[in-house]
Amino acid sequence: MCLSLEKSDSIDVCATELIRGIQSGSFLIEGPDKEKILKKVLETVKGLFCSVVQESTGYCQSCSDCQMLAKGSHPDLYWIRAGAGSSVIKIEDIRLLKERVSVKPFQAKSKIFIIEKAERLNVSAANALLKTLEEPPQGVVLILVTASASQLLPTVVSRCARIRFSQDAGGSDADFEERDSLVEVFFDKNDPGAQRKLYEELGSIERKQVVDVLTELVCVFRDMLMIKLEAEAVNFMSRQPPQTLRGFSQNFSIADIEMLIDEVLRAKYYVNGNANTKLSMDLLIKTINKSSS
Ligand SMILES: [Zn+2]
Repeated sequence: MCLSLEKSDSIDVCATELIRGIQSGSFLIEGPDKEKILKKVLETVKGLFCSVVQESTGYCQSCSDCQMLAKGSHPDLYWIRAGAGSSVIKIEDIRLLKERVSVKPFQAKSKIFIIEKAERLNVSAANALLKTLEEPPQGVVLILVTASASQLLPTVVSRCARIRFSQDAGGSDADFEERDSLVEVFFDKNDPGAQRKLYEELGSIERKQVVDVLTELVCVFRDMLMIKLEAEAVNFMSRQPPQTLRGFSQNFSIADIEMLIDEVLRAKYYVNGNANTKLSMDLLIKTINKSSS
């Protein structure tokens, strides 16, 4: 039970139909506009819970389920967020979730758990959640919402059906293609000319675009790690074809890939923070070349 979609409105066509079509499951919805995602998710939940579903809208807005959802008081919808005064979702929050998961729905057909800002799950909370994500009991739907799946543990991501909600902020196809072609050159240490050009290009394009390239690069390394761990291709996060990723991954060990994810994140942090882009990129390219066998 997995899927990966891209581009705007995927949540409309897919989350609704998919989440409604199943009795249980785990979903990871990612996109930059949290408010918009949550609004769509809530509409999906209304469609699921409404006891007088109307074909045109998917929910009636007037039955007791719809009314309770509108008021935020439906007993079968749970929100999990970092507690007041805390920046992380803790294991205690997940223990509570698991207790509730094991109880039957009060009045709807299913129970929905929405984990907001799922990147805030700390490691022990994330680990405590894995089994439930993997096999939610009948009638339980878990929905993790995050700005970027790259901020979550791969073990969490791999257990969810992924829905990307990129909206307009994701850039045009041309932007993506350009970014993809740049990413490949990072791995081409046998072509010093191309790498030199990459270094020059990254030094001259806008900072934000460099950050985009680095974000894709993190996804590429994550996917390479997934390949090493023998995950299914449908869970991949980057835009590179699986074959390309497999090719890349052959030249790196798991330890190297983990180290390089840290290096790329570090470079991204520096570039975001006004560091000299060329220098940061030069270091990064050299580190990747050195790790590649
Ligand atoms: Zn209703």
